[in-house]
Amino acid sequence: MKVKVWGARGSVPAPGPEMNRYGGNTSCVELELCGGSTLILDAGTGIRGLGVGFAAKLPTINILLTHLHLDHIQGLMFFAPCFRSESSITIWGPSSPEASLAARIGRYISAPLSPVEVRELPCDVSFLDTPATEWELGGARIRAESVTHRGPTLGYRITDSDGTTLTYISDHEPGLGAPLEEIGQEWISGYDLARSADLLIHDCQYTDEEYPDHVGWGHSRLSDTLTFARRTDARRVMLFHHDPLHTDDFLDTFLDTANGRWRALGGEPGQLTMASERLELEVSAPAPAPAPAGA
Ligand SMILES: [Zn+2]
Ligand SMILES: [Zn+2]
Repeated sequence: MKVKVWGARGSVPAPGPEMNRYGGNTSCVELELCGGSTLILDAGTGIRGLGVGFAAKLPTINILLTHLHLDHIQGLMFFAPCFRSESSITIWGPSSPEASLAARIGRYISAPLSPVEVRELPCDVSFLDTPATEWELGGARIRAESVTHRGPTLGYRITDSDGTTLTYISDHEPGLGAPLEEIGQEWISGYDLARSADLLIHDCQYTDEEYPDHVGWGHSRLSDTLTFARRTDARRVMLFHHDPLHTDDFLDTFLDTANGRWRALGGEPGQLTMASERLELEVSAPAPAPAPAGA
């Protein structure tokens, strides 16, 4: 599975010369599955750059939304395939008792916030609630489950046909009222989604020092992200959803701190990555253990 980050920022776009290396666009990740299909995770402003080269390549597009906060849907209106008649786009997202997914996204793609309405888009677009059970897209098995954030929010576990597993939980506060080191795994939000993932892409918006002013805002402090990753036995971890105040230099230092804490928790060097725009990773499942001699 190939992973490419198009937007790693959380909350609001944060462009500027001091943000150039990690990037200012909000959440969007492209997955290329081993069978050649593509999945898009979230449609923050990062999806605009993805769409520029994407439209002619693939008429059928699946976008998996974690939730409908603006930093995860704002790029939809600027995604080139939406404006091509040959595009067929399916947008998956969390259900809500309040209104359908189409109606809730339509609040953004409608006046006065948008110059066009969903029904005016030339593409063929459909909106689907994620199924309650595992389903298949492009040869991969997908599972979506609710996680601790503000409002209906999903995490995704995507298992490619070669067995590689990626977990994407962009906005998550699993440590809210729950000491992650101590509680049973069945009480940890997102545990089953993240268990033994080959790559866990996870919210890491705040330092531990910043967190006390943001308890209940729906995001993780560094120590909770790392403890969650250790408890779920992630093989690699990408720290994601950077706070808009965190500059390149700040994030460099943050990664150094994270690596030190990770090793103190028993993690191995090289398992942590700080998400940055246009970063590409190849992810694969571990090779099966060799059969015992004589077997
Ligand atoms: Zn967000
Ligand atoms: Zn959010």
